[in-house]
Amino acid sequence: MTAALYCGRAMLNTIVLERGISGGELLNTEVIEDYPGFEHILGHELAVKFESHAKKFGAKFVQDTVVTLKKLPDTTFEAVTDSGNLYRAPTAIVTSGGTPIKLNVPGETEYAGKGVSYCAVCDGAFFRGHRIAVIGGGDAAVEEADFLTRYAEKVYLVHRRDELRASKILQKRLFENPKIELIWNTVVERVEADAQGLVNSLRLRNVDTHAESTLTVTGMFVFVGFRPNTGIIEGHVKHDAMGYLETDMNMETSIKGLFAAGDVRVQLTRQVTTAAGDGTTAAIAAEKYLAARRSGNLEPEIAASGGYAV
Ligand code: NAP
Repeated sequence: MTAALYCGRAMLNTIVLERGISGGELLNTEVIEDYPGFEHILGHELAVKFESHAKKFGAKFVQDTVVTLKKLPDTTFEAVTDSGNLYRAPTAIVTSGGTPIKLNVPGETEYAGKGVSYCAVCDGAFFRGHRIAVIGGGDAAVEEADFLTRYAEKVYLVHRRDELRASKILQKRLFENPKIELIWNTVVERVEADAQGLVNSLRLRNVDTHAESTLTVTGMFVFVGFRPNTGIIEGHVKHDAMGYLETDMNMETSIKGLFAAGDVRVQLTRQVTTAAGDGTTAAIAAEKYLAARRSGNLEPEIAASGGYAV
């Protein structure tokens, strides 16, 4: 949405193709308190502000799911959506974020929505007064474990190592929360359910001793990282071992004229601030790319195709 805002300000004809409600990971976050200027704002409120701000500068938002994005021989980009619509533009910015990684243990898929969840904001309220487990040791797991104590009577944080990856301020909050108990050096072996198919326990294994145990919980919230949503891009684009898109300092991918911003790209951390910064750079770089294209300062085959839309 920041990229759309900047493209709009640059007077580019800008379309945002969004499969759901605008906001991405902001919608999975209850409170944002690390976006400058907003000491405390709900994730979905910030998302609404971003969208209306981008619209103010002329960006058009279209709810449609992109299934493929490819560069055509004339060097323009073509996005095809699942409703059969086709969008053409001389440049595109991919900000498709990522999808939560699964543990891939027995029972996880079977009991999804019946005690297994990947979104605390969406499902937390169903666990009022329950004992639940959060799996992971990164920012998401630690932040959401803390959030879930609003509802749950007790939250077990199950982590595979003896040290958390999360930032120190989130760790401090976690350690100070009396409703949270850490279970170190432990992984989930399988998810177990009662006769109605509702989760009632987790089978755990200590990775050092290999001792197995049963944890009685009615919910398992999994926050073990993210997989980038890059499947829409047709053709080879450079990425790292995890699939995150590699970009140069202008956010340009290995496909000329295709830019990437936010969680989908290789970077040290994935914050609202870094996504907004990436979006800014990508939009300004895309504008320069279009200007060079119009003035013929690109490779001849690119200059030949013309056009202004993003
Ligand atoms: P992450 O930083 O990649 O952390 C994933 C955690 O899950 C790690 O602790 C990892 O353990 C553990 N893990 C991975 N695979 C596992 C498996 N198969 N079984 C058990 N545990 C497993 O992912 P994230 O927490 O989702 O965060 C993603 C990005 O978003 C990060 O850049 C993060 O900083 C950012 N983020 C920021 C905030 C915030 O600042 N408020 C909030 C949410 C997310 P190891 O530590 O042993 O590798």
